Formats: sequence, C-alpha cells, structure tokens
Amino acid sequence: MDSALRADILKRLVPLYAAMDAAYEAAAAAYRFVCTGCEDSCCRTRFHHHTLVEYHGLRDGFERLPAVRQAEILARAESWCAEQARPVSEARSLCPLNSGGRCVLYAHRPMICRLHGIPHELRRPGQLEQRSPGCGEFNRRCDRLPYHPFDRTPLYAELARLESEFQQALGVRRRFKHTIAEMLLSDRLAP
Ligand code: SF4
Repeated sequence: MDSALRADILKRLVPLYAAMDAAYEAAAAAYRFVCTGCEDSCCRTRFHHHTLVEYHGLRDGFERLPAVRQAEILARAESWCAEQARPVSEARSLCPLNSGGRCVLYAHRPMICRLHGIPHELRRPGQLEQRSPGCGEFNRRCDRLPYHPFDRTPLYAELARLESEFQQALGVRRRFKHTIAEMLLSDRLAP
C-alpha cells in the first residue's frame, strides 16, 4: 500500500478512538463509575481484536518503543502465548502490554480495551437489539442502578468502514481475529 495512504487511514483512527473514549466516559459518568483497577483486571481477559487497521495502529505504536522495551514485551508475549495453550481456567496472566498496571501503548490500544466494562447495547441490521452487562467490578458497584443507554453500534460501524477502506487499499480481503500477544508476535500477520 502507498505509505501516505496508509498513514492517512491510520490517522483517522485517532478521532474514532477519541469518540470511543468520550462515549465510554459519558456512560461511566452516568453511573458515577470510575475504574480504579481490580483483581480481575480486564487486561487478564483473552480478548480477540478483529481489524487489520487496529493491528497496524498498534504496531506503529510498538515500533516507536525503544528496542529494549520491545524485547521485554515480546518475551512477555511469548510466555503469554505458551500459557494460553493450557486450559483457559489456568490462563490468567496480564496482557504483555500491561506493565506495572498500565498499558504501555495506551494511545494505541484497540477498541475493545476502550469500551469494556460498562453495560451497552448493539443493534445489528435485521437482528434484535443485543444488551451486554458490565464487568464484574461494575456489577459489584453499580448493579442496582437503572441501565443508561450506551449504544456501541455507531462506533462499530465507523470502525468497520475504516477497516473496509484499509483492506481495500491493501488489496486484501480477510477476516482478522487475534489477541494482543499474537498481534505483537506476528509480523507474519502482515499485511
Ligand atoms: S492492550 Fe493495553 S488496555 Fe488492552 S489489554 Fe493490553 S494492556 Fe490492557
């Protein structure tokens, strides 16, 4: 892909990510919920990420880190993947990008890391509205409060549009489903 076009599409992730953060903040504020971390840190969850455009955004952030930092993270990614080969109940290590409780690539983290934890709804064409609950800590603290509308649909739709444009520009058409560790280790995932 033409590198200017690639950079241009990736640049458009920035306002989209900002819109996700703002939507999350507004929904959290409606419950007066502030995430202060918890034992079940969502960075221990085996999330899959589904877009090449987010993968490239994350890789760009990763490639700007000093080599020594990259090496540490890749070593953690290797052990994370080895651990995942064991039964899910035993696999509870933090995401390799979590260092001392903080995300090393916070500005580049993908959508699901931005939106997780607050109850939300999703409206897929031709399907009934799908409601999903908040995380364990949210439920412990806010479970009795009435649902505040948090519609992820427009955010998913905009990401899907960007992904489609990105794949078209790359000249590929593929499904993408990888964890952060796999994304970090997989130059082979390219393009
Ligand atoms: S990418 Fe960052 S926010 Fe997402 S799980 Fe990993 S450390 Fe946590």
